[in-house]
Amino acid sequence: MITLNHTPWHPSDWQSELKHAFRQPEALLEYLDIANVAANGIDLQPDFALLVPRGYAQRIEQGNIQDPLLRQVLSLQSENEQTPGFVMDPLQEGNAELGYGQTPGLLHKYQGRVLMITTPACAINCRYCFRRHFPYTDHKPKDQHLALEAIAKDTSIHEVILSGGDPLLMNDDGMAALIQDLDALAHVKRIRIHTRLPIVLPQRVTADLVATLEDARCKITMVIHSNHPNELDETTERALTCLRRAGITLLNQSVLLKGINSDAQTLINLSELLFDQGVLPYYLHMPDKVAGTAHFYLDDSEAQPIYEAMREQLPGYLLPRLVRELPGGIAKTPVNFEQRQPLNFQTNI
Ligand SMILES: *Cc1c(COP(=O)(O)O)cnc(C)c1O
Ligand code: SF4
Repeated sequence: MITLNHTPWHPSDWQSELKHAFRQPEALLEYLDIANVAANGIDLQPDFALLVPRGYAQRIEQGNIQDPLLRQVLSLQSENEQTPGFVMDPLQEGNAELGYGQTPGLLHKYQGRVLMITTPACAINCRYCFRRHFPYTDHKPKDQHLALEAIAKDTSIHEVILSGGDPLLMNDDGMAALIQDLDALAHVKRIRIHTRLPIVLPQRVTADLVATLEDARCKITMVIHSNHPNELDETTERALTCLRRAGITLLNQSVLLKGINSDAQTLINLSELLFDQGVLPYYLHMPDKVAGTAHFYLDDSEAQPIYEAMREQLPGYLLPRLVRELPGGIAKTPVNFEQRQPLNFQTNI
């Protein structure tokens, strides 16, 4: 019989895991037994640095340059190509009217909820990231009190989303202090943590973190970020089980990425495996047109058959909502294929 370990980790576990993460493409490729760097179009000195924790690298298939996990993290020369329509800030978050207003580190686009940039750092650098060009130097963690003051003043805010970067890269004390500050604001009912750490650095789930989240007055939801079933293993299961036992609602968001998860069966397997590990699918995002990521992009006509096959084969509660984000939108915009005109549609003009 297999006995699963469902205890949280010690803080030194994730700190050491992060310290020893791969930061050089050569070192990662050597570990994966992949030679012939030049022929594979790898960028050995990317502007957006490579960063891959060892535990994540262990889930990559040895010798396979096309591995769907490796493709999410390996820097390629093709990222340096300019593609018309692919820009630095497709969501115009840098535009004061559409994104960040008066308060640094606070993004208030949707009614009742506000997104807080807690830290610029991530434990992994995803090549498709829409924040890869984000001007984090304009939004410093030391300005956190300004964001808290703004939230305190606006009683229409009922939910605070902790984002980044990755908010769980704050240490246990920092996290506890922030949750305490938010708990003290009576109009804030819910705290949501958008994090990829339970997937890429599951050791981040420490006993202190679990206790902080469990003891909070606000209801806590964690939206994790997994794109492929191969990302889920016994370490993610251990982390997610600890969180779920503490009463935290677990949801997942994925990005639809060409050559990584752009087929229905992969995404169906992902939904089912997430559910096995206690997580419900939430959003499946259409990729944003971010400079350097054109090779991951799919358009609606490519997404449609994938999503329809998922809808056909999955129970409703395991079907993520396919959405895209538009600058200035009042919410994520659903991608609605049913609303397309039938072929024989005629208008009376
Ligand atoms: C995605 C997002 C949210 C959260 O949207 P939900 O539909 O509630 O998940 C909130 N604020 C901003 C700025 C966002 O980009
Ligand atoms: S973890 Fe999220 S914010 Fe960080 S690089 Fe990946 S996609 Fe971007």
